[in-house]
Amino acid sequence: MPLTLTQLHAREILDSRGNPTLAVRATLSDGSTDEAMVPSGASTGEHEALELRDNDPRRYHGKGVLNACAHVNTEIAKALIGQSIESQSDVDRTMITLDGTENKARLGANAILGVSLAIARARTKAEGVPLYRSLAQQFGFPTDRWTFPIPMMNVLNGGVHADSGLDVQEYMIVPQHVRFSERVRIGSEVFHSLKEVLKERGDVVAVGDEGGFAPHVGRNEEALVVLHQAITAAGYTPGNEVKLAIDTASSELFKNGRYTFDAHTIDAQELIETYERWTREYHLVSIEDGLAEDDWENWRVLTERLGARTQLIGDDLFATDVKRVRMGIENRVANSVLIKPNQIGTLSETIEAVKLAQHSNYTVVISHRSGETEDTTIADLAVAVGAQYIKTGSLSRSERVAKYNRLMAIEEEIHAAT
Ligand code: PGA
Ligand code: ZN
Repeated sequence: MPLTLTQLHAREILDSRGNPTLAVRATLSDGSTDEAMVPSGASTGEHEALELRDNDPRRYHGKGVLNACAHVNTEIAKALIGQSIESQSDVDRTMITLDGTENKARLGANAILGVSLAIARARTKAEGVPLYRSLAQQFGFPTDRWTFPIPMMNVLNGGVHADSGLDVQEYMIVPQHVRFSERVRIGSEVFHSLKEVLKERGDVVAVGDEGGFAPHVGRNEEALVVLHQAITAAGYTPGNEVKLAIDTASSELFKNGRYTFDAHTIDAQELIETYERWTREYHLVSIEDGLAEDDWENWRVLTERLGARTQLIGDDLFATDVKRVRMGIENRVANSVLIKPNQIGTLSETIEAVKLAQHSNYTVVISHRSGETEDTTIADLAVAVGAQYIKTGSLSRSERVAKYNRLMAIEEEIHAAT
């Protein structure tokens, strides 16, 4: 007897910014049940699947998701209840067909992703194995060896995630160690040293949306100087135990062919030269969305100039969409793909983007959103697919730390078994 879906229920909850999102519970024919929660971005790309909001100004300033919940509880439930859930691709395809739009605008990518993840989690319960193993089995990844992602920890928040005045949205530390739990320890130590460095400078130490500090340090480059000080103060050597990464999220800075940077507007060429210098002077090993989501021609130049030695991640550029990742590969643009399940709206399409990246020797970076929940599915996803990196925020705020804690639990479990 195949496992079938017997109940599906979505409800409105709050994300880490206090905005509504969905929690979806799936229950299967053997009684197995689990819930998934859907994240939400702020620097959302133009090419992402649609996050359905009620736009009713009487509730949550228009941000309610009661319509998305209703779509789960009526139309999607009707299409899936009684159906086999053994193939995630079949489940996801049913919802994609039911929605009928190019970008999941009718039912809402938030509604569809909630169901997709909840069913994957419930299936795992039925199988009686950990989520990372179930996902690897489901999608044909190896289950005899596991690798752990290197975290890119966003300890200084700018852009639309904080009012720090920094144009660059994320400044990340990238701790190097064979053990995942030691990467977390190094990251946490640098985070606390950073707090001391900022205090000594007289900067504020309140945190932004992803749990990083949001000081008014001035020019974008100054943040890199401060990070070097923090790494050194923690007893490490920049470029050795701890490297640096940034996410410029530059689609937010782009207007009429130019980029706003340090209170000036500059062209792509000047921005590329800045990046080139930063990679030499600050052990900057990874740049995400260095240029805007449709600035393909300049992206090619950036990749030609820096791609051989620097990881160039496409986030808004690729939007976890195989069609856009393929365009990147064909045009020799970027060398790494950011993977955010809610950019595309189903788990199986997310995996397709991962596989295409891996097949083309692009690195894979699993990512949270700036609006998160206590759901830790992306931690298991990163281990299941063998992602080289994970972005899940700073070393504070439980919606961020929950993913690090889950990864440390997986590491301990795997070590105990071998
Ligand atoms: P977002 O930011 O979730 O607000 O889009 C994350 C990112 O740009 O990587
Ligand atoms: Zn990004």
